[in-house]
Amino acid sequence: MTDRKCVGCGIIKNRNDLIKITKEHSTNSLVINGNSKVFGRSAYLCYNSTCIENAFKKNKLQKILKTPVPAELKGQLTNELRHDKN
Ligand SMILES: [Zn+2]
Repeated sequence: MTDRKCVGCGIIKNRNDLIKITKEHSTNSLVINGNSKVFGRSAYLCYNSTCIENAFKKNKLQKILKTPVPAELKGQLTNELRHDKN
């Protein structure tokens, strides 16, 4: 199955329609839309600012990834919205 649930709105979508945030298991760093070589606990978000905002409320993202999530990550995720995925 390639369907994943958005942390922000809880809607299940195709993995390709979601931003993936992975806690890289060897370095514990957070990777956005990492390639297939990035392994670790992952969370998914829709490509919209509302879901990003929701994921940061009540530390939802932090709880799912089981790691502290820096505030800068929100800006990085927002930048993803501007990328044209083609
Ligand atoms: Zn969503």
